[in-house]
Amino acid sequence: MNESVALSADVIVVGSGIGGLTAAALLQERGISTLVFEKNRYAGGSCSSFQRGGYRFDAGASVFYGFGENSTSGTLNLHTRIFRKLGVEVRTIADPVQIHYHLPNGFSIPAFYDRLAFLDALAARFPHEAEGIKLFYRELDEVYEILSAMPAGSLEDVTHLFSVGAASPLKTIALAMKSFRSMGKTARRYIHDEELLRFIDIEAYSWAVQDAVATPLVNAGICLADRHFGGINYPVGGSGAIPEALCKGIEKFGGRICYQSEVTEILVDNGEARGVRLADGSKHYAKAVISNATVWDTFNRLVTDSRYRVDEKKFLRAPSWFQLFLGVDGSVIPEGFYVHHILVDDWKSYNQPGGTIYFSAPTILDPSLAPAGKHIVHAFVTGEVEEWQNYERGSSAYLAAKEEVAAGVIARTESILPGLSKAVELKVLATPLTHERYLNRFKGSYGPLMKPGQNILQKPQNTTPIKNLFAAGDSTFPGQGVIAVTYSGVSCASYIARKFGKPLDELL
Ligand SMILES: Cc1cc2nc3c(=O)[nH]c(=O)nc-3n(C[C@H](O)[C@H](O)[C@H](O)COP(=O)(O)OP(=O)(O)OC[C@H]3O[C@@H](n4cnc5c(N)ncnc54)[C@H](O)[C@@H]3O)c2cc1C
Repeated sequence: MNESVALSADVIVVGSGIGGLTAAALLQERGISTLVFEKNRYAGGSCSSFQRGGYRFDAGASVFYGFGENSTSGTLNLHTRIFRKLGVEVRTIADPVQIHYHLPNGFSIPAFYDRLAFLDALAARFPHEAEGIKLFYRELDEVYEILSAMPAGSLEDVTHLFSVGAASPLKTIALAMKSFRSMGKTARRYIHDEELLRFIDIEAYSWAVQDAVATPLVNAGICLADRHFGGINYPVGGSGAIPEALCKGIEKFGGRICYQSEVTEILVDNGEARGVRLADGSKHYAKAVISNATVWDTFNRLVTDSRYRVDEKKFLRAPSWFQLFLGVDGSVIPEGFYVHHILVDDWKSYNQPGGTIYFSAPTILDPSLAPAGKHIVHAFVTGEVEEWQNYERGSSAYLAAKEEVAAGVIARTESILPGLSKAVELKVLATPLTHERYLNRFKGSYGPLMKPGQNILQKPQNTTPIKNLFAAGDSTFPGQGVIAVTYSGVSCASYIARKFGKPLDELL
């Protein structure tokens, strides 16, 4: 390649998911110029909002960590720290319950922000396991406390690791040991009741889409402990408020986001990333490229050199989603109803396609998302593109199949929201094909998961086999979830910034 070619920016970012935007915002704030290319007309990917008929729906995520105020929590409260650094405000509303679980045998329990209230409610259902419950959740708190003591940074950045290790040697060793442990195996050291162990499974499944044995203790420490410390906070204006604020931060410091700009190729020359080619054929060059696409899309589609292909089976591919975005008459939501719910009818099928229903009604916290007197119900179940790929998009058969799945989900949800089917006034349905198409995600997948025996540290990190090609987002460590991809964005930016000789300041 001609070395004198004009650079579009120091760093090009492929995709404006939360991982990509976080990395771009922190680099840009540090004076490293960034250019983000996003295929859609809006930012945020699985954490965006979209409008329909007077409603503003969350496209995916709606349970948010990371907005706590505790100034001593090192790797946690990242949203608060990042927005403070960028000088951009995201207002939030505290949610008293992370998820209200509705489980077989009439087992119903809200995961309260108030830790004691939650543990007492669990012990009331399982009095014979009261001590085990305390000891197991204490383990998660210990992980939380260790993470709280450490500043966020890249595990590939030796200087960062050295400074963390030197400042807190015992905590670093403890964290390394815990990162190899499984949440489910840890639970089994203290708990023996099968129904309670199923509950621990659904606690893991709620965000990891895997049972507790397959879920690393470290991730559990973040999701199931921080809900009682930093808590769950909903951004005013919906999930899209997060990417919108990150974009504001990028632009405030001079960076650019180009919408409706799909990257079709990451340009690699002699084992080194040089830039990207867009769908319109234009080429843009940079000193480094960050891919916010999945590991499969990055290496099996955007990088054309087959030597870098990633075997589909290298990781477990998480399923995709069938989603219902409903505008409903407000009277269907009873007084005191919580925002987020998980519904399991039968433990035998909770982890099968469609087995668990997730749903949220964010208008309980932020009524401005719907017309007066109306609510949003966002419900979703797992699904696979294979079940849908024989339908022609827009065909009557496709529409009928979507309606059938939606009717089944609504009917099951009526067990806790009687009258829901009659209250629906607006219905937007999205299949795994929609998810695949809108977000350019391989098979619409929620992303790669660890196989049994694989360790969380075997997840792709931010560097890749291609020089100057980096990755951020839910294919990289630590994994799925908005706070997790925010961490990946921070660690990606901190690695690149140090490489560019402008290390990031610690996020305060
Ligand atoms: C239904 C659902 C519910 C969820 N609920 C929660 C929740 O409650 N709480 C939580 O924390 N997490 C939740 N998640 C997970 C969370 O939303 C994701 O893990 C996270 O948002 C993924 O971020 P990401 O940075 O990996 O990028 P993505 O969200 O995948 O975004 C990638 C972006 O890159 C763009 N892009 C891809 N390829 C290209 C290309 N070639 N050129 C240009 N642009 C491209 C896409 O259009 C997209 O905008 C949920 C996810 C889903 C699907």
